[in-house]
Amino acid sequence: MISSGEVWLVGAGPGDPDLLTRKAEKLIHAASVVFHDALVGQGVLDLIPDHVRLVSVGKRAGRHSKDQKTIDMLLVEAALAGERVVRLKGGDPSIFGRSMEELTACREVGVPVRICPGVTAASAASAGLGTSLTLRGTARRLTFVTAHTRKGKVQSLDWQALADPQATLAIYMGKASAPEIARGLIEAGLPGDTPVALVENASLPEERHFHTRLDLLPIAARTALGDGPAIVLIGAAVGEARLGMWVNSREELRLD
Ligand code: SAH
Repeated sequence: MISSGEVWLVGAGPGDPDLLTRKAEKLIHAASVVFHDALVGQGVLDLIPDHVRLVSVGKRAGRHSKDQKTIDMLLVEAALAGERVVRLKGGDPSIFGRSMEELTACREVGVPVRICPGVTAASAASAGLGTSLTLRGTARRLTFVTAHTRKGKVQSLDWQALADPQATLAIYMGKASAPEIARGLIEAGLPGDTPVALVENASLPEERHFHTRLDLLPIAARTALGDGPAIVLIGAAVGEARLGMWVNSREELRLD
């Protein structure tokens, strides 16, 4: 399923090893080397057989251990040396995963490269909340957006386009830029009482949910979240999650 000299970009899912696809599991068993991100859950890494060489190329906000060009080069070099290469990425490789750089680097030198999808953080978060990301007639649009900051400044976003009351926003890497997100959306016309859910460590035993509203998002992000990866979900569909709060709030109490 993976030949010598080939690269697979494999989605590791949000952290829970049971959310790894069967295909991903087969690929990590057939690999000779696995290059993985910091976001790949420990439970997933534990599934990698001992004989497979494991290389961390982890990046977490602020702590870049290897830059993207170095990662691209490592993948290409390993493939050209005849290894069976798996590049294991958190969630789905095609969503805010820098896949294109790696695909291009491989293709430029003629290294065969393929993709195995994974469960993305937004899906795991809505599953944990017990809600749907879309709602018939209410949330007709689902937008995946990243509010990654560069040098402390949020990259410019089209707030007017994002401030749609009929959409659900799933904001990746949005923790640090929560104040800009709230201000941008409110200034663009989204009501301050629009429901917001913060989900940290989705699918992991440390999963935590925090329900708030758009105008309170900055303070919630600052005070309610820990060190884990967190996704910000905004929109009416997330408000529906609160209707099912009995089960969730009990779980939250237990998890805290
Ligand atoms: N390719 C990944 C996203 C990588 S960007 C995917 O499809 O999920 C990294 C961001 O994803 C984090 O900053 C966070 O916003 C989100 N994220 C990843 N794993 C998460 C998790 N288990 N719980 C909550 N958010 C998560």
